[in-house]
Amino acid sequence: MSQPNVLLDEWTGPYGGVPPWDRVQASEFPAALAACIAEHLAEVERIARNPEPPTFDNTILALERSGRTRERVLRVFAVMRQNLSTPEYRALDREWQPRIAAAVDAIRFMPGLFERIDGVHEGLAGAALLPEQVRLVTHVWDDFVRSGARLQAEERARLSAVNQELAALYADFRGRVLADENTWTHLTSEADLAGLPAGLVAAAAEAARERGLEGWAILNTRSSVDPFLAFSARRDLRQQVWTRFKSRGDNGDANDTNAIITRIVKLRAERVQLLGYASHAHWQMADSMAGTPERARALLMQVWPAAVARVRAEVAQMQAHAAKDDESLRIEPWDYLYYAERVRQAEYDIDVAELSAYFELGRMVDAAMWSAEQRYAIAFKEITGTVPVFHPDMRVWEVLDVPSGHHRGLFYLDTFARSGKRSGAWASSYRTQCRMDGGVTALASNNNNFLKAAPGEPVLVSLDDVRTLFHEFGHSLHTLLQDITYPSLAVTPRDFVELPSQINEQWVFTRELLDRFARHYRTGEPIPDALIDKVKAAEAFSQGYKTVEAVSAAILDVDLHTRPDGVFEPASFEREMLEQIGMPREVALRHRLPHFDHLFGSDGYSGLYYSYLWADVMAADGWQAFLDEGGPFNVDVALRFRTHILSDGNTTDRAEAYRRFRGRDPEVAALLRERGLG
Ligand SMILES: [Zn+2]
Repeated sequence: MSQPNVLLDEWTGPYGGVPPWDRVQASEFPAALAACIAEHLAEVERIARNPEPPTFDNTILALERSGRTRERVLRVFAVMRQNLSTPEYRALDREWQPRIAAAVDAIRFMPGLFERIDGVHEGLAGAALLPEQVRLVTHVWDDFVRSGARLQAEERARLSAVNQELAALYADFRGRVLADENTWTHLTSEADLAGLPAGLVAAAAEAARERGLEGWAILNTRSSVDPFLAFSARRDLRQQVWTRFKSRGDNGDANDTNAIITRIVKLRAERVQLLGYASHAHWQMADSMAGTPERARALLMQVWPAAVARVRAEVAQMQAHAAKDDESLRIEPWDYLYYAERVRQAEYDIDVAELSAYFELGRMVDAAMWSAEQRYAIAFKEITGTVPVFHPDMRVWEVLDVPSGHHRGLFYLDTFARSGKRSGAWASSYRTQCRMDGGVTALASNNNNFLKAAPGEPVLVSLDDVRTLFHEFGHSLHTLLQDITYPSLAVTPRDFVELPSQINEQWVFTRELLDRFARHYRTGEPIPDALIDKVKAAEAFSQGYKTVEAVSAAILDVDLHTRPDGVFEPASFEREMLEQIGMPREVALRHRLPHFDHLFGSDGYSGLYYSYLWADVMAADGWQAFLDEGGPFNVDVALRFRTHILSDGNTTDRAEAYRRFRGRDPEVAALLRERGLG
C-alpha cells in the first residue's frame, strides 16, 4: 500500500464532495500525479483490450468514466499554479506538464483503442443511440483523428515528442511571464503621485508595504498599470510604467521568452504537417464556429478600418488637450489612457473617481448575482466558512433552483490580487456538471485581480472592473446552468465560449440594476441619471482604442499561425505586421508576443484569439434580442437563451443553437453600432 495522499481521495463533505483546499500541499503532488496518471492509463488499457466487440457502452461510455481521479488532481493542480504559485509550484509545473502531455498521447495512441472507437463510429447508422450519444461518439472520434490517432507508429512517436516539448515550453513561458509580472515600479516621493486619485495611492502604498518597501509600488499587472496610466500626470513615469508592462518577457534576461515562442511556433507548424493541416490556425479552427482562418480574418477586417478611423478621431480630440500641456507633445502609447481620461473629464465632465464611488465591490458582486436570479430562476446563498477555501479572502455561495430549492452547484470567488497569482481575470471550474452515473453538480469559480483597499476602507472599483466581474460571472453562469449527460460534451468551441461572458457584461448598465446596487458608498444615493448618460456618451470615446488594441492582436495571431513553416522572428514580425495593417502609432498591441499568454501559455487561444471578437458579435446581436423583445429582464428571451445557449454544453452544433435562440445567424451590425463604428 502506498502512502495516503489527500489529493487522490474522493472529495468528501457536503454538495457531493468539495475540494480539500485546506489540506493541499505541494509536496504531495509528485506522488499524486504519478498515481492518477497510472490509474487512468490502466483504465483505458482495459477498454482497449476488451475482447467483446466495441459498443457505445463498453468503449465510449467507458472512456467517459475513466480518468476521474486524474481530473480531480489536475483541477487542484491548476488552481495551485494559477492562484497560489510559488517557485515550488512553478518547478512542479515545468516538470509535470510534459509528463501529463505524454500520458495524453499514450492514451490517444494506445494500441487497439482507436480501432474500437472507429468501430463504434462506423456502426453509428445501425445503432439505436440518443442524439446526445451520437454527438458524443462523433466528438470523441473527431478528437482522436484530429490528434493523430490514424498516424503510423513513427509519426505518432514524433508527434508525441513534439507535444511533450510544447508542454514544457508552455510551462516555461508561463513561469517567466509570471516572474516579470511579479515586479513593480517603485515610487519614492510625493511628487511621483501627481494626478493619482486617493484610492490608487492607498492601493500602491499597500502594495509597497506587502513587499517590505517604503513609499508606493505600481505592480506590473494590467489592473495596476492601466489606472496609473489613466491618471498619472508624470509623463516620465507613465512611460516607465508602460514600458515595463509592455516589455514583459522581452528584456533579454533570464525571463526573456523570445527563444521559447520562436520554438513553439516552429513546433506547431511541424505538428500540423504531421496531422495533414495547412497550418496551426487551420487545425485549431477545425471545430470552431468560424471554421477557417479566412473566415476569422474576414470578420476582423470587417471591423478594422472603422476602428482605425475611430482612433484617428480620438487622437485628434486628445491632441487638442495635450497641446495645453505642451505645444510639441505628440500622443504616444503611454499617453493614450491619460488624455482619453482628460477628454472624458473635459467634454463629458466625468470624474472616474466620482464614478467609482458608486461601484463598491461587494455591492457589485451582489448585483451580478441579483441580475442572474431575475433572469434564470436561481438563487445565490452565501455559505462562506462552511466549506474549505485556499485563501482566507475567498467567498463561496450555494446556487439553488427557484422555487424547487434543488441544489445546483457552488460558486467560489477569489477576488484580490496578490503575489503568486497570475494576472488578469478568469473563470474556471473545479468540477463539471454531468448526469452520467447518478450525476455530479458544478463547482464554478471566478478569479479576479482587484486591488484591496486600505484596511477599513470600502473597495471601490472602476467601471472596467465591474465589467470584468460580470464577464467572468457570465462564464460561471454557463457552468452552473449546464444540464447535460456526458462530461466530454461540456467543452464548447473557443469562439462560442465567450458569448455567455460577453453578453453578461450588458446587464451592468441596466437601469434596474444600477438603481438597486450602484449607490454612493457614503451617502447611499443611487447613481444619477445624468452621470449614466455622460458615461454612456464617454464610453463611445475609447472604443477606437479598445477595438484597435484587441483586433490588431487577433490579426497578429491569425497571421502568425497561418505561416506554414512556422519560421519567424518575434520583433520584426510584430513590426512588419503592424506596419502592413496600418496600426495607428498611438496604440500598442493589447498583448505583445513575448507575453501573449493566450497564445503561448498553452494551445488555448493560439490561432483563436479572434474568438473574442467573434463572440462580441454574437453578444451584441444577442443583446439586441433582449432589447427588441421586452427588455433586459424579459424572462421569455432569458429562457430561450438559457435553453439553447447556456444549458446544453456542446450537445448540439453551436451555430445551430444560436439560430434556435435568435431565429437567424448573428449579424455584425449591432456590434458596430454599439461601439460607434457603424
Ligand atoms: Zn472570457
